[in-house]
Amino acid sequence: MPYDFDLFVIGGGSGGVRCARMAAGHGAKVAVAEEAAWGGTCVNVGCVPKKLMVMASEYGANVADSHGFGWNTQSGQHDWAALIAAKDAEIYRLNGIYKRLMANCTAFEGRARFIDPHTIEVAGQQVTAARIVIAVGGRPIIPDFAGAEHCIVSDDVFHMQTLPQRITIAGSGFIAVEFAGIFAGLGRQVDLIYRADLPLRGFDEDLRAGLAEAMASQGIRLHPGRTISSVSATKTVTLDNGDTLESDLVFSALGRKPYTGDLGLDAAGVKTGGMGSIPVDETNATNQPHIYAIGDVTNRINLTPVAIAEGHALADRLYGPGPRHWNLDRVAAAVFSSPPIATVGLTEIEAAANGPTDIYLEKFTPMRHTLSKRARKTIMKLVVDQVTQKVVGAHMLGEDAPEIIQGISIAINAGATKADFDRTVGIHPTAAEEFVTMRTRTRVAG
Ligand code: FAD
Ligand code: NDP
Repeated sequence: MPYDFDLFVIGGGSGGVRCARMAAGHGAKVAVAEEAAWGGTCVNVGCVPKKLMVMASEYGANVADSHGFGWNTQSGQHDWAALIAAKDAEIYRLNGIYKRLMANCTAFEGRARFIDPHTIEVAGQQVTAARIVIAVGGRPIIPDFAGAEHCIVSDDVFHMQTLPQRITIAGSGFIAVEFAGIFAGLGRQVDLIYRADLPLRGFDEDLRAGLAEAMASQGIRLHPGRTISSVSATKTVTLDNGDTLESDLVFSALGRKPYTGDLGLDAAGVKTGGMGSIPVDETNATNQPHIYAIGDVTNRINLTPVAIAEGHALADRLYGPGPRHWNLDRVAAAVFSSPPIATVGLTEIEAAANGPTDIYLEKFTPMRHTLSKRARKTIMKLVVDQVTQKVVGAHMLGEDAPEIIQGISIAINAGATKADFDRTVGIHPTAAEEFVTMRTRTRVAG
């Protein structure tokens, strides 16, 4: 064999691990390099520890809610250091599982860089490969306002040993609203600073408005239409209108960018696009036909299941019996805010741009809160193409939204019509049954 390996995967995160292990399973000789911790962002500083923190943050409100059901339990103090220790033990366990998944590959622990289009330098040696997959993910963007060095980003929050009382968050994307809910649920004072009129730009407008309402009722102080001008060493935050906020912690969540600096891409002849992303074709090939890029480094749909699907499909296409297809046009997504949001398909605005659209919208107090008396609404919405009657979007704000929308996304990906939803018998009593009992059109858009 002219090369040391058939395939070299740079990055042992969601996409890289799946690609490497599937390719090895198909009989390829595979190497994979990881410079930090096996499992990547999702396992170490993303989805998994974040979701554990979301769960931790829900207990206080659940105890308060239980009073309406006859319980007289009192909520105690939350021990942040204990949460971090428990989370660390679980992540350590997952790191081991991810490393063992690499059993059929040669695993390098260290930073990998291109020396030339077929040569990688890693852990003090040079190895060659016929094909190379770049699966290096992304990193938080460091803001450019004065005093940015006094702020933390999402990578840092998972390792803090204490959680201060007054927290200012910059941004209103996925990470900002998720951590606003976590911190508020743990009893912290939260100020959310964002430049848009509503959080979560790009999501359905009814859900955005509903989330802003829910966050405000949870005590999160919203500052729409504002940006941060500066942060002092003592964490005084100055906004663009001159207002100041005294904080103990400033958390910047202003997006992520592909982690392609210092990777030797010039030596490999791989072209980059906006923010250092790597453009690929529909087979995940870069401009160099033997070099591929998958996951967040391509900066398209930056979600774990997408990175995994791309890695799996690529390994099958290159070494397996044939390509496996995932539908990446209608990827469901969830925001683990408080309450969570989940969504699949087109928003009302997107669908209306294509033509007349029937909108079915329900806003109601979920059963639990009829007794808990917590001011919380659930919002459910179906977006239906008026001509074909296909359900082209489903959106939900409310408890269990991610669990419910996962099932609805199968129906939407299968091309279900509103009539298909209507002839489905619901499960009672659930919130989910609203999706099959929405009989009256709320409005026509478009
Ligand atoms: P990554 O998982 O980032 O893996 C890249 C790996 O490559 C890293 O381990 C890195 O150390 C390594 N690496 C980089 N350069 C080199 C090099 N030169 N040599 C060796 N190793 C290298 N997505 C969801 O679907 N659901 C969620 O709930 C969710 N929550 C999130 C919460 C947070 C706070 C964040 C930040 C992200 C979240 N995401 C979530 C997004 C998700 O984590 C990413 O989409 C996913 O991890 C991307 O996988 P990847 O394989 O492309 O990259
Ligand atoms: P997002 O892209 O979701 O949000 C970025 C936020 O920063 C937006 O509110 C944006 O404002 C704001 N922003 C960007 N630049 C500026 C600026 N110069 N001045 C002021 N505000 C600015 O990024 P996140 O960091 O929250 O998350 C990164 C990605 O990670 C997500 O897009 C998602 O793909 C993934 N992720 C997924 C999760 C999940 O699946 N549950 C959870 C966490 C992350 P505006 O809206 O006005 O542009």
